[in-house]
Parts: sequence; C-alpha cells; structure tokens
Amino acid sequence: MFHDECGIFGVSGNVDAARLTYLGLYSLQHRGQESAGIVTWNGETAFQHRAMGLVSTVFDEEVLDKLPGSLAIGHVRYSTTGQSQLVNAQPLLVRFQGGPLAAAHNGNLVDAETLRARLEAGGSIFRTTTDTETILHLIANAYSRRGGRATADITEVLTEALASVSGAYSILFQIDGCLVAVRDPRGYRPLCFGKLESGGWAVASESCALDIVGATYEREIEPGEILVFGPKGPTSSRLKGGGTPESFCIFEYIYFSRPDSMIRGVSVDSVRMALGRNLARECPVEADIVISVPDSSNSAAMGFSDQSGIPHAIGLIRNHYIGRTFIQPKQSLRNFRVRIKYNPVKDTLAGQRVVVVDDSIVRGTTSRQLVRMLRRAGAKEVHLRVASPPIRFPCFYGIDTPTREELIASASSVSEIGEFIGVDSLGYLSNEGLLASVPPQKETYCTACFDGSYPHEEAHLLGSRTGAFEIEDAKPTGREIR
Ligand code: SF4
Repeated sequence: MFHDECGIFGVSGNVDAARLTYLGLYSLQHRGQESAGIVTWNGETAFQHRAMGLVSTVFDEEVLDKLPGSLAIGHVRYSTTGQSQLVNAQPLLVRFQGGPLAAAHNGNLVDAETLRARLEAGGSIFRTTTDTETILHLIANAYSRRGGRATADITEVLTEALASVSGAYSILFQIDGCLVAVRDPRGYRPLCFGKLESGGWAVASESCALDIVGATYEREIEPGEILVFGPKGPTSSRLKGGGTPESFCIFEYIYFSRPDSMIRGVSVDSVRMALGRNLARECPVEADIVISVPDSSNSAAMGFSDQSGIPHAIGLIRNHYIGRTFIQPKQSLRNFRVRIKYNPVKDTLAGQRVVVVDDSIVRGTTSRQLVRMLRRAGAKEVHLRVASPPIRFPCFYGIDTPTREELIASASSVSEIGEFIGVDSLGYLSNEGLLASVPPQKETYCTACFDGSYPHEEAHLLGSRTGAFEIEDAKPTGREIR
C-alpha cells in the first residue's frame, strides 16, 4: 500500500480558529498519522502546538485553550522527506524580518536538495530536514530583497520565492497576519476552500474536511493560484509559470482521497465506482461473490459487482485501530500486521469462487497474505482484480513509495505477479480504463507511477541519481491525456 502524504487545513476570520482546525484535521487524518500540529495568530503573537501521533492524542481541551486567535493553520503528516521526528512536524513556525511565518505543506519539492545546498553555501542554517524549510528561507530572502515589512507586498514575495522551486506543493502560510493558500502550477495535490457558517473562511486538502466544520464549498484553489485571505475576504493572484500543463495526481482518485470528497467537481466515490465498472468490463471472470479489501477498495468493488452482476459481499473485516506505530521494518512482522488488520468472514467465503477487488498492488506481499487468508477461510477460488494499472515507478511528488526494485510490477509480468500472490487469476485495469474513469476534463493528470512519464525534468534526474530507475526507463513529459 502506498502511504498518504500530508493533510492541511486553515481558518481565517473566526474566533474558534484552533478548534475548527482541530476538527478539520480529524477529517484529514487518513492523509497522515505520524504527527499533527496547529499554529494560530491572535494579531500580536503566534502560538504553536505540535506532537507525534494522531490528532486525537495530540490535542485536548487544555492544548486548544492555549491556541488563541482567529487565524489558524494545521497539518497532519506522513514523512516523505525528512525523518519522522518532532522537529520535522508541521506547521513549521519561524520568526523573520516580517514577523512570525508559519507553513503547512502537502507535497514534495523535486529540487529540494539542490536548493538547500545553495542556501547552506550562502550561510543559511536549517533546523529540520524537510523541504518545507527551504521555502521559508526563500521567502525570507525575497522579503529582505524588498526592504522588509514596510514595503514588501506579500504576493510578490511569495511569487518570487516560489518561482525558484520545482515540484508539488499545496501550502498554507500564516504570514503578515494573513492566511495564504498556494498551489503549485501543475496542481499535483488537491486544495479547496469554503465559507464558514459561523463566519470566516476555511481551506482544506479535501472537501470532506470543509463539510465537518460547516463550511460551504466555494471552489478548488487553481493550480498556480495564490489566495490571500485578508479582512475583505480572499483575493486571488497567480504564480509565475502560467501555461504550465496540469499534472493532478491520479492516485488521489484511486486511493489517497476520501470517497466523500469532491475533486474537480466529481465525488471520489463515483470515480472509484467507475474504476470498478471498467475493471469488470476489461477483466471479466466467473465467480460467486465480489469482495473488497476494505476500506479504500469498497467503491471499486461495488462498481465491479454492479457491472458484472456478481453479488457484492463483505468478505474481509478491517480493524480500524491499527496505527502507524504498529509498522515494523522486519518482513516477518509486516506479515503479522496483515493478519491484525484484516480478518476474513468465514461463513461468507466458504466454498465460494471469490473476486477480490483491491485499489493497487505495491510490493505484492500484502496481497499474498490476504489471498492465503481467504483460502484458509474456505474460498474455493480467488481471483484478484486491481482497480489501477501496475505500479512500475516510484513517486517524487509527496507520496511514500518503495524503491523501484521493491515495486513488484517493475520487473515482473502480470502472470508472474499472479503466481507470487497465489491467485487463480489476476487482472489489472488498463491505463486507458483508468483515464476513462476519471473526469474527462482537458487538464492533464500525473500518471508517472504507472508509465514513468514524470512531468518534471528534475524528478527524472532524481530517479536516475538515486538509482530508482535507469535513465532510459522514464521520460519527462507534460503530455495532454485528453
Ligand atoms: S507519481 Fe503517481 S502517486 Fe506520484 S503524483 Fe504521480 S500519479 Fe500521484
């Protein structure tokens, strides 16, 4: 399973900013479970609380009482750059020439190492190992070049600072007493905002977090847009890099986002249903029941059942109380983790020809364990259907992926993978089937983990340098998909 990257949430113009942000982060917990944090601003001072762990353990009444102000930004993290340590937990908060500056970042810069080396050569000191801190330095430098607080226009500062970074970033800043939301010109990661019933504005990685705080969805923040939430409401401007084709992460639809979120005007649930329907059309099989690997494959399994006419059943129960802390690097314990996380429903499975729908296969080890579990529970046949194409390349845009060697589809054919997993048959959705399932807008999608078509030249070079793939394996492209 890929791991989610991060979730961000912000509030402007509401006296309950910290509490609303806390609720918003609860809805975004699926995007990161290693650490959580909130920074608030009361017009004079910035307040911060960050800790390792889930939102429910990081915050309580006492902590929230110590976060006053009508402006807040929050973050849940799964580390993709920088170690999983408290010092790297976000939002990062620093003090510079312009006062307190805080940032909550979802995404990965592909040129972070180069930028950091350049800044360090110029005398900059870093406290964390995250790429987000690089952005803070660039902002401070751009601010300083404009003569400081009295003369600096915050939009111009951000435009100049972000012009020198490359990669994926949906970021919330708390700067100059304002909440500012920025999305990179390719728009890899989602970001949207809404108007709060109780007054003010809320910004979130996903629309499901707006729902929980009673915010009316306004729209997505456009790729390349800077939205400053000032006293008169949001004002929009653009980053440099106009005309850059979009590269929205197609995996947000497949797995990362919650099914009750809307992305590009379409519910994630409906896209997953379409993935399942197209999968059933492309990879039909005779069977008695269709089951999902809960929860991320539930909608795709329903779609498969709908299209194939094979009844849907609950064949696996997921334990929702397994935290990330359970993950151990040793393979033997990883296998044990699968048994703790899923339990088969024996009465449903016994003697049945079972179609199992999963959203993706990464290493193949979890699928192998699940198939063994289903057979032990009495399944007569197990047919695995995957609601995405084979993952052959790592991600450099904010998703934790294993090395290319660990991706089972990078070097194995579908029949070899099926043999390793131990299924009676294995079928993947095609690239065409995937693209036919997502909203048919003229924007482009990033599909690099399937086809190696990295939108950024830097990602291509990064992959080559780190040995993630051979240089001829993957080519950068900004191609139009539809
Ligand atoms: S490489 Fe895959 S996971 Fe990463 S941004 Fe592109 S589509 Fe998303």
